[in-house]
Amino acid sequence: MQELDLFKEQISSASPKKIVITTHHKPDADALGSSLALANYLKKKSHDVTVITPSDYPSFLSWMKGNDEVINFEEPGKAEIVAEKIKEADIVFCLDFSCLNRLCEMGEMVKQSKAYKVNIDHHQDPKDFADFRFWSTEAAATCELLYELIVKVGDKKLIDKDIAECLYAGIMTDTGGFKHPNTSKNIHLVTAELIGIGADNSKISRLIYDTNSVNRLKFLGFALTRRLTILNDLHTAYFAISKKDLKKYQSQTGDTEGLVNYALSLDGIKIAALFTERKDGVKISFRSSEEVEINKFAATFFSGGGHKNASGGTSKLPLKETTERFEKLIKENKHILFNQLELVNEK
Ligand code: 5GP
Ligand code: MN
Repeated sequence: MQELDLFKEQISSASPKKIVITTHHKPDADALGSSLALANYLKKKSHDVTVITPSDYPSFLSWMKGNDEVINFEEPGKAEIVAEKIKEADIVFCLDFSCLNRLCEMGEMVKQSKAYKVNIDHHQDPKDFADFRFWSTEAAATCELLYELIVKVGDKKLIDKDIAECLYAGIMTDTGGFKHPNTSKNIHLVTAELIGIGADNSKISRLIYDTNSVNRLKFLGFALTRRLTILNDLHTAYFAISKKDLKKYQSQTGDTEGLVNYALSLDGIKIAALFTERKDGVKISFRSSEEVEINKFAATFFSGGGHKNASGGTSKLPLKETTERFEKLIKENKHILFNQLELVNEK
């Protein structure tokens, strides 16, 4: 309770502060939605707020209020401005990640900063870098936690339609459109409140899910027919996408989002992965069925982590060597990965 009181004091309108809000590399709807919801809320409390992302993000998120003022660290000429903003900040918020390395180069700047640091997050194994942590792996989304935090500090009345729509977006996508096992009673209660405040759920769904470019759909067809490997014996399926593939379809940030779920949707598949070749290595998305703890696999072998059934990681090996290593590791660890599954089957 003491910590919450201290936090309340820090964000009190009585003493306006310089505030930086940041989130993880390649922000998704929960990362950007929570950041902009918080920014809009803190601005209402008279603070000077800047949202900084470590990279760009999908254009289907650009409708969120405050998007135009977001600073992308990777944009030419922005690194110095970002360094100055972080250095001068009284408060730094870290949203939707649990370890500073998810900020890439900005991680060290935040670590060095003397600001009061706040971490709001729902990922596993949070590192101890914040003065105030509002964290729960029970939460489906950072947006759910942020809603609860605003209510807890007594500011529910400050949540307007714009803030509610940012929060709704994060909840909708992190629950996979209210389909994943994390879709709790509480998430429905929070969602009901947000719709009550004015969030247009149907509009947000359309803006996020139904704004495909022709290239994106063609890329999806190509990936499904030419880049999907299915290992039925290992209950595993994965996509491997090269830089050349991305170029051919003029792929934009966000175009591969959701692709990995097609691999997991196959009957009998318990582990799905998407390997995407990027300029600095291979980025990996992992998904698993409920009984497989894919976050441990991601953390142990691919310097990653995340949630039990949705994690990510990276590889410095070339694309082909990465997928070969992945297949080998799945084979070698199948007894651990599928142990629970096999026990269930024997019943
Ligand atoms: P996605 O596959 O959608 O990029 O990420 C799935 C989940 O894994 C997200 O919650 C994301 O934050 C987490 N994640 C993705 N990449 C990494 C990574 O490199 N390291 C860690 N620790 N988590 C990651
Ligand atoms: Mn999230």
